[in-house]
Amino acid sequence: MREPGRPKGEAFLVEMRGIERTYTMGDNLVRALCGVDLTIERGSSVAIMGTSGSGKSTMMNIMGCLDQPTKGSYRLDGRDVARLSRAQLADVRGRMIGFVFQSFNLLSRTTALENVEMPLLYQGVPARERRRRAERALEQVGLVGREDHHPNQLSGGQQQRVAIARALVGEAPIIMADEPTGNLDTRTSYEVMAILQGLVGRGKTVILVTHEADIAAYASRVVTLRDGLIIDDRRQAPISAQAALAAAPAAHASAGASP
Ligand code: ADP
Ligand code: MG
Repeated sequence: MREPGRPKGEAFLVEMRGIERTYTMGDNLVRALCGVDLTIERGSSVAIMGTSGSGKSTMMNIMGCLDQPTKGSYRLDGRDVARLSRAQLADVRGRMIGFVFQSFNLLSRTTALENVEMPLLYQGVPARERRRRAERALEQVGLVGREDHHPNQLSGGQQQRVAIARALVGEAPIIMADEPTGNLDTRTSYEVMAILQGLVGRGKTVILVTHEADIAAYASRVVTLRDGLIIDDRRQAPISAQAALAAAPAAHASAGASP
């Protein structure tokens, strides 16, 4: 059912206008974002690029409703985020966005399956359904048979796939990933990008932050930040991570692949 006052489907999924974010550090003002305009359509894949300190994470945090801008307006799926209460914000975030982080952020004393179930626990989904949906999410990232492993029993790539499954389990339409391949080797990065591209193929919107141009090449649009401003915004034919994976030499000691 459509909420009253919410515009119909034509609205952009993400619509940022004149976004500024300033941090106060003692007597200093740090201007992390200095007036950003950005719209993103449903079903696209966008890479946010830029050197360290250019404002990528600040932008991602605002986009993900984890932080509020100092100035400017942000609409997510047509809703004016500034008007939402904390509870509404948490609700919108939970329903709209699955997050993936560079450091995986898995609970270490918890199995892969339980890690993936976690967002559903907060949403009050009954145990049986949690389990069923978590198993299906792990299947989607190719981790059948690893359900009972703890994070330290998994390779980095497998841990990131658990994190992607956790981002998928709530069936949010948007996946936001901040440097998702930052801790992974080249081949494993291709694997993760192939999974993210597969999600775009199934209609998800994927927004990822990276400082690596070869990772940005898998997105259909690259937005470049410098000193808190967008200095470049271009659309491109994304290269196929599946093809890159097929062409890449097999990993030297590919975890679990040898007999
Ligand atoms: P990036 O992700 O591109 O490396 P960030 O968005 O993390 O960049 O940071 C942009 C700028 O804002 C940097 O100068 C950084 O030092 C500053 N900054 C980020 N977060 C904070 C914070 N919580 N407090 C103060 N300054 C911050
Ligand atoms: Mg960052």
